[in-house]
Amino acid sequence: MFLKFIDELDFVSSCRRYKLGLWQCPNFLFLVMAMITISSMIGTNYIARRYDDETVTVISVSLVTALIMIIGGFIIRGVEKIAEANIMKSEFISIISHQLCTPLSAIKWNLEVLETEKGMGDDNKLTPKQLIFLKNIEKSNERMLKLVNDLLEVIRIDQGRSVFVKEKVSLVQLTQEVIEDLGYLKAAKKVIVNLRDSSPLPRVFIDPKKMKIAMENLIGNAIKYSEEGGEVNVILKKEKKKVMFIVEDHGAGIPRYQHSQVFEKFFRSDNASRYRTEGVGLGLYLVRAILKNFSGEIWFESEVNKGSTFFVSLPIVDR
Ligand code: ADP
Repeated sequence: MFLKFIDELDFVSSCRRYKLGLWQCPNFLFLVMAMITISSMIGTNYIARRYDDETVTVISVSLVTALIMIIGGFIIRGVEKIAEANIMKSEFISIISHQLCTPLSAIKWNLEVLETEKGMGDDNKLTPKQLIFLKNIEKSNERMLKLVNDLLEVIRIDQGRSVFVKEKVSLVQLTQEVIEDLGYLKAAKKVIVNLRDSSPLPRVFIDPKKMKIAMENLIGNAIKYSEEGGEVNVILKKEKKKVMFIVEDHGAGIPRYQHSQVFEKFFRSDNASRYRTEGVGLGLYLVRAILKNFSGEIWFESEVNKGSTFFVSLPIVDR
C-alpha cells in the first residue's frame, strides 16, 4: 500500500507513460494543486492575522480559489486527453479488426474449398505434401481469425454493444462441441482432454455462442499451458443451485504474485513467455466479461509447475 503510494508520487514516469507534457499531466498538476492549497491556507491565515482587514482576507481567498480552479481546469483537460486517446485507440483497433476480418474469412473459405479438392479439378489433386502446407496455412489463418474476433468482442463488450441472445441450455453438448473444435490444438500438443459430466445436468440461461467463446478460451488455455502429451480434465456437475464447469490442467501454473492480474486486459504471466505460447492476454478478460452477463462467476487455483484449475459457476434456471 505504502509502496504503491510512493510509486504514484513518481509523476515524471507516469507523465512519460501517458505521453503528456508536465503541464498537461494530471498526476503532476494534482501535486501542484496540493502544494498551492497548503501554502495558500498558511498564507491566508498569515494575512488575516497581520492585516486584520476583512477586504484583504476576502481578496486573498478569492485569488487562491481562482488559482485552484485554473489548475483544476488543466487537470480536467489532461484527463480528457487521456480519455480521448483511449477512445481513439479503441476505434483504431475496431477499424483494423473489421478490415482484417473479411479477408481472413475469405482465406478460410477458399482454403476449405481447396482442401476438399472441389476447386482443383480431377487432374490437379493435391499431393500429401501440399496438403500439409495447406493445413499449416489453415492453422495460422485460424489463429489470426481468433485474435481478430476476440479483439472485436472485447471492444463490443467494453462499449456495451455486444448482443447476448440467452436461452435455456444444457452445457454437456456445448462442451463436447468446444472440445471437438479444439481438435487442432489438442493434436498439436498431443494433449488428451477428458470430459466428465454427471448427467442429467440442469440447464442454465446463457447465450450459447458467447458461452462457447468462454469455454474455448478456458479449455484452450489448459491445453496451451500443458506439457506435450499432458492431460486436461473438464468437469461438469451440479453443486447446490449452480452448475459448475471446471477445467483442470497439470501444466505451467501461474506464479502466486501474478494471481491478482490474471483477468486483466492484455495480461500475460511470466509462464506464457516460458512456454512460448501465442496469445495477447485477452482471453480471460473476455471470459469474465461474458460470464458476468450470465450472472456467472469465475475463480481459479494455480501453482507453478503443478497446474491450474479454473472454476465457473452458473445459476440453474429450471429443475
Ligand atoms: P493468453 O492469450 O495470453 O493465453 P489469457 O487472457 O487467456 O491470455 O490468459 C492470461 C494469462 O494467464 C496467460 O498469458 C497465462 O500466462 C495465464 N494463464 C491462463 N490460463 C492458464 C493456464 N491454464 N495455465 C497457466 N497459465 C494460464
